[in-house]
Amino acid sequence: MALSLSIRKIMNKVIYLKPEKEKSLLRKHPWVFAGAIARVRETPLPGETVEVLSHKGNWLGRGAWSPISQIRVRMWTFSPEEVVDTRFFLNRLKQALSLRQNADGSFPDAFRWVAAESDGLPGLIADRYGDWVVLQFLATGSEFWRSEIVQGIGTLFPVRGIYERSDVDVRKKEGLAPQSGLLYGEAPPMNLWIREGGFRAGIDIYQGHKTGYYLDQSENRARLGHMATGKNWLNTFSYTGGFSLAALAGGAKHVLNVDSSAHALARSEENHRQNGFDTSRYDHLEADVFKCLRGFHTEERLFDGIVLDPPKFVESKFHLEKAARAYKDINRLAFHLLRPGGVLFTFSCSGLMDAGLFQKIVADSALDAQRDVQFIHRMGQAADHPVRSTFPEGFYLKGLICRTCNEN
Ligand code: SAH
Repeated sequence: MALSLSIRKIMNKVIYLKPEKEKSLLRKHPWVFAGAIARVRETPLPGETVEVLSHKGNWLGRGAWSPISQIRVRMWTFSPEEVVDTRFFLNRLKQALSLRQNADGSFPDAFRWVAAESDGLPGLIADRYGDWVVLQFLATGSEFWRSEIVQGIGTLFPVRGIYERSDVDVRKKEGLAPQSGLLYGEAPPMNLWIREGGFRAGIDIYQGHKTGYYLDQSENRARLGHMATGKNWLNTFSYTGGFSLAALAGGAKHVLNVDSSAHALARSEENHRQNGFDTSRYDHLEADVFKCLRGFHTEERLFDGIVLDPPKFVESKFHLEKAARAYKDINRLAFHLLRPGGVLFTFSCSGLMDAGLFQKIVADSALDAQRDVQFIHRMGQAADHPVRSTFPEGFYLKGLICRTCNEN
């Protein structure tokens, strides 16, 4: 065993960390930053597997080399016996898949199969939509092993096709160009219908946000569905109508969807039609949410329930203050528009905004709106978007269900 390990060490290139820089790896955090590296014996290729050693030469783990990124190595394994090869990817994919299985052995119609670092596969996203799987290769390591990954997916699941949606900016940080297209099998339909809870949703794999849909909100949509009955909802940043479909399937009286994208609203209309909801139960409004909330406030309109699911306001820590003001603005306006006893589902998908700060911003918004508010539930990303305990950066979606008290 000792011999095979030493052979592997010879085969893979070796990098040495600076003194004291091994601490995060000993805690199994999967990233090595450029500044932690003391020397590289032979320059590895982008994505090539390297052995990471401490300053004193102690073996720490094995990861993918990324010559341009500030995250210079993303760790594949901390176990000396685990070789990074075709079988490694098959095993990781298989394990991630088994964790998504329902109790009866079936799988949900749509789910995140691989959540990158949190599933031990840094830089890889895999989402299943019906008979198709959509992949994102976000780092040099997953890019390097793309054919093994595609093969593994095809072996483990009866897919009709595998489509790539690596058309994302983060690839630039890795020195990779955006890329999308069919990787295997049949091309997906322009509108791929999936079932989620009590409704159907059409997914645009080619152009839709992320890999086509906000799978991370599935449990929160279900929760809203359970609280929707008989209520008049305002669904802001509605995109293709996910929360609205859940609300209507759950017996909502009416939902007004607001989004600035005409294209997203057209898809949303189609989703509502396909589910056969009576057209008197929903409306779509193309508008800027900030302006729309202000206008409704002036008109003194009231709703029983409001959803605030804005896009990422915080792109970097320099934007945190500005983003905080934007969150406060929309949450304050939303509280103004809530009937006593009404509920607000409010979210932040910015990883840089932590849950404590978000709660504080929402609390301040309630004070500013002079509303007496209770937090009745804390939400996060769905269970198929797990957060590895050694990788807190994986936690990004936060939500609060707030209730305005009757005593106002
Ligand atoms: N809630 C959705 C996802 C929201 S994505 C779901 O569960 O599927 C964010 C949406 O906000 C996008 O559709 C985008 O078009 C919209 N958007 C971004 N800024 C906006 C603004 N200022 N006013 C209205 N819509 C906006």
